[in-house]
Amino acid sequence: MDTMTKTVYQLPFTGIKQYKMFINNEWVDSASSQTFDSVNPFTGEVWAQAPLGDKEDIDRAVQAAKAAFETGEWSRYTGAQRAALLRKLGDLIGEHAEELAISEVADNGKLIREMLGQMKSLPGWCYYFAGLADKVHGESIPIDIPNMINYTVREPLGVVGAIVPWNSPLLLTLFKLCPALAAGNTMVIKPSEVTPASLLELAVLIEKAGFPPGVVNIVTGYGQTAGDALSKHPDVRKVAFTGSSATGKLIIKNSAEQFARVSLELGGKSPNIIFDDADLSNAVNGVLAGIFAASGQTCMAGSRVLVHDSIYDEFVERLVERTSRIKLGNPLDMESEMGTVAFEGQHEKVLRYIRIGQEEGATLLYGGKRPMTPELKNGFFVEPTIFGDVRNDMRIAQEEIFGPVVCLIRFRDEEEALQIANDTQFGLAAAVWTKDVQRAHRMAGKINAGTVWINNYRKVSYASPFGGYKASGIGRENGIQAMHEYTQVKSVWVDTGSVITDPFKIL
Ligand code: NAD
Repeated sequence: MDTMTKTVYQLPFTGIKQYKMFINNEWVDSASSQTFDSVNPFTGEVWAQAPLGDKEDIDRAVQAAKAAFETGEWSRYTGAQRAALLRKLGDLIGEHAEELAISEVADNGKLIREMLGQMKSLPGWCYYFAGLADKVHGESIPIDIPNMINYTVREPLGVVGAIVPWNSPLLLTLFKLCPALAAGNTMVIKPSEVTPASLLELAVLIEKAGFPPGVVNIVTGYGQTAGDALSKHPDVRKVAFTGSSATGKLIIKNSAEQFARVSLELGGKSPNIIFDDADLSNAVNGVLAGIFAASGQTCMAGSRVLVHDSIYDEFVERLVERTSRIKLGNPLDMESEMGTVAFEGQHEKVLRYIRIGQEEGATLLYGGKRPMTPELKNGFFVEPTIFGDVRNDMRIAQEEIFGPVVCLIRFRDEEEALQIANDTQFGLAAAVWTKDVQRAHRMAGKINAGTVWINNYRKVSYASPFGGYKASGIGRENGIQAMHEYTQVKSVWVDTGSVITDPFKIL
């Protein structure tokens, strides 16, 4: 059906969907036979159940991935063969974008209109990294020794453990899966317990694309059990993690036991800085997209909005006016502009931070409540919330809320804007809104963040490196650099004919 003519999408089944996990290309229950529930945050009801995987299931999956890497069909694939499978997967994701989008919306309450767009962008990740799969190569190194050739090769690492959060399960998995498979690794993926469905739907497409057994395995379960076991497993050579900074710290400790590499994409408290010469209408839209898209549940949320003193009042007026017109509603309705937050615990956390903001003396300019209209009262909704007169040392300005709550902070000049922007433990992203090109680049150079947007917000591409400074992470995803995160370098020395007369003289 033409997506433009639909307004409200539906789950393609009734009752509770029962999922199985995907290990060694087989659909299996957990070793314990136990399952856990996924609750639809719009209805508050269980819509799906997934196997409760644990240490034993992780071990089974890691052994399958290890065998595939060391001796399986996959270990003999060329880069061009891996690329062909990734392209096929991209095609299948494109064909099934609607089902994938619906399963994410049912799991986490994000808007179907956003998720349809996101799903349609996902094949791009498969195609981009397919293009790099046959271009992983080392170098010939000039060496100052007669009769000696030295060259390097880039080799895959082995089994990669990927642990992903609930806010964009498929997108954040593909950030890892595409370069990892392009480089020849195998994987065990642990989705968030809040959103198991879309990755198990992805597994159907992985099987259909024709990836050999053991190349991709998906084990559903809790972080403290299945996630813990994966990050500690002695046969895992790299842990690719996206989630909170607190869990990221545990991941480093766990993986240190076996010296596994880590890449960590963590939290943020990103500054969105509006100078007095900014195009205010663009800036207001950029602020709205930065904080209220996905109900504020994006790592790159522009949760601190720094506004120049001279335009503060006008900016507030425009922001509040546009915010008051945001249409909260059924996330599966194409007309809705904001959905729910993802689950009950997150809902409580966001409302708790709103109370903290009020206690700290910030001015509640808009929102702050759970809407109780008949359509919305069963869902985990939070009104889009704007706090004014926020000081950067308040908890609401320093701690990641991960909800639709924006803090407005005044500044007097560029120096103060920069000082406030960098006064945070995080360093994921930032934006600068100004027409002064020199100032824009000056700010971009001095802000401590992995991404800086100038006169825009929230742009991401498979081609551009993404990652954090400070507590926002280690390593980069996307771009050619991502291939380096999933490969290691071997140096090979070849003697072309010298006669060894003194075995103790090596150099
Ligand atoms: P989380 O840290 O609670 O969970 C993330 C994943 O880790 C889940 O799969 C969870 O089951 C697992 N996990 C939890 N405890 C674990 C443990 N002890 N050992 C191993 N695994 C464990 O994060 P979340 O609440 O799911 O996601 C929200 C967080 O993710 C926010 O902080 C957000 O900023 C961050 N995030 C970052 C990016 C980025 O690219 N930087 C993108 C999206 C989300």
